[in-house]
Amino acid sequence: MIKTDLPYLENDLKEVVNIFENGENLDIKHLYSEKTDRVVNTIVVGGKSYAFGNYIGENNSDIVRKRLIKRYAKLSLYKALSAYLGISAPWGSLTGIRPTKLAYQSINETGEFHDFFTQTLKVSEEKTELVQKVLSSQKNYYIVDDSWTDFFVFIPFCPSRCGYCSFITSDLRSASKLVDKYVDTLIYEINASKKFIKNLRSIYVGGGTPVALSDEQLDRVLSALDDINCGVEYTVEAGRPDVITENKIAILKKHKVNRICVNPQTFNDKTLKLLNRKHTADEVKEKYNMVKDDFSVNMDLIAGLPEETFEDFKYSLDTAISLSPDDITVHTLCIKRGSDLSETVKRLPENETEKMVEYAYKKLTSRGYNPYYLYRQKYASANLENVGYAKSGKECVYNIDTMEEISSTVACGANAISKRIKGTEIVERYAAPKDVASYLNKIEVILENKEILFK
Ligand code: SF4
Repeated sequence: MIKTDLPYLENDLKEVVNIFENGENLDIKHLYSEKTDRVVNTIVVGGKSYAFGNYIGENNSDIVRKRLIKRYAKLSLYKALSAYLGISAPWGSLTGIRPTKLAYQSINETGEFHDFFTQTLKVSEEKTELVQKVLSSQKNYYIVDDSWTDFFVFIPFCPSRCGYCSFITSDLRSASKLVDKYVDTLIYEINASKKFIKNLRSIYVGGGTPVALSDEQLDRVLSALDDINCGVEYTVEAGRPDVITENKIAILKKHKVNRICVNPQTFNDKTLKLLNRKHTADEVKEKYNMVKDDFSVNMDLIAGLPEETFEDFKYSLDTAISLSPDDITVHTLCIKRGSDLSETVKRLPENETEKMVEYAYKKLTSRGYNPYYLYRQKYASANLENVGYAKSGKECVYNIDTMEEISSTVACGANAISKRIKGTEIVERYAAPKDVASYLNKIEVILENKEILFK
């Protein structure tokens, strides 16, 4: 529990407390004082007191001062808990989901980010090097331009619900009545949203599992996108191998999709069963072989899955590399409220997960896969990150744009978040309702809001 002199920062400070295993059980006091250009944060924990003074500048704008006040409060708390518990975390006091965005911001303001990460935020040298590599991979893609647009379409249905899933996806069998209506409304929204596109950079149909739609439904949704497809990167998440068929592949080819995801998550059948995924590891290989010559393929793996050891993860990663897809994304398991596993899994084996993530980094970079986008999630095992690795020139533009927020996104579907970029700092968002029924009922309101966002 934390008591703070700055109640508006309580949630940010709790995020720092959660970096430390069982941190939420500590009694912590945060005292704050401010004089013209300096702040002092004092942390009292377990009868010990730690005080830190920092310069916030007399002439800085209110926005900059607020940002610095928050940064130093979090950093002071991190340093105090780190000293009290004798533990340092790989990402130091950094809790945000986009470390690379912060690195770009620091480079813009001071010309560098390395010292800011390692000395100010206490990020480890290893994670700072990872960020540096991601920035290098993004060199040819990182263009901040208000006119660039990504077009995103969301299909919130899956053939079954994975144990770790906390998305709003519905099991297709239980939602079958809604699906036709959803497809009709989605196509209506796609057509009404095309006018918001300025300079198209990519199309991304995600989910859920878009390929779990019937042949006819999938064909209809992709037909609605035909007239905007000008040969840009065009991704469809095939996701679950159990729904990839010859017919589906023919539909994707007909609509000139050039990138798909075939996601094993693990190559261990025992774990796949435990996760309620209705396919085997062999099926992933079989479907991958059916698509690999026609599409650039991404594979997702998860480190820290329940009942998996380091050897299990190593086997999955080595198998994925032996198949040689263009892109392998390594996620760290994240057990969020709302997922079935949140009922049964309490705390994940953090050391094992760290070992897995380190192994993935070393092995993938030694095999010609460069880390090119990265993000962090709350509740991730050991507070670790998700990293996309790709062969050179095979990076997914949409993933970079979304993580770095360097282009606008026109998004269609339930829970789809449209974003308007204005320069490097300002991002305005509009999120459509999460559940399918509200989405269907409020489609006109959704379009009105997008009109305001993109006007
Ligand atoms: S495939 Fe993805 S979206 Fe669908 S249930 Fe599994 S985790 Fe959730």
